[in-house]
Amino acid sequence: MSIQRTLSIIKPDATTRNLTGSINARFEQAGLKIVAQKRLQLAKAQAEKFYEVHKDKAFYNSLCEYMSSAPVVVQVLSGEDAIAKNRQIMGATNPANAEIGTIRRDFAQDIERNSVHGSDSEENAALEIAFFFSQLEIVE
Ligand code: UDP
Ligand code: MG
Repeated sequence: MSIQRTLSIIKPDATTRNLTGSINARFEQAGLKIVAQKRLQLAKAQAEKFYEVHKDKAFYNSLCEYMSSAPVVVQVLSGEDAIAKNRQIMGATNPANAEIGTIRRDFAQDIERNSVHGSDSEENAALEIAFFFSQLEIVE
């Protein structure tokens, strides 16, 4: 266990239903601190770059269309074991499999429109944070 940073995204299904504050309350209540944050709308090409690891998956094009369809809130969460803790608070990718009390169980609409993104490893967290933020924009 150590202090980590992870990239969190509040996805279009959640921003358009005005759930940003409700979702971020969950992170804060669990002890994660929002140390950088901005609201923006991705171009489809930017979504494609961000999700490049999934480019061969059947859901890739639909995912990138969806992620660029409305604003997102991108943010950096900081705290003890932040990468795994964030994923635990988020719940499973498919909300039908997500544990009770997780963000995806409570807010997601389906496996694509599942309200939040979270980095899955230290390596990806560093890459994903750098995709959206400069060091100057991250303030503990
Ligand atoms: N996704 C989808 N269909 C699938 C699997 C994933 O639409 O069968 C979408 C969903 O929005 C998911 C994202 O693609 O959050 C990235 O997939 P990943 O397997 O990395 O899930 P995550 O890490 O977000 O739980
Ligand atoms: Mg993932």
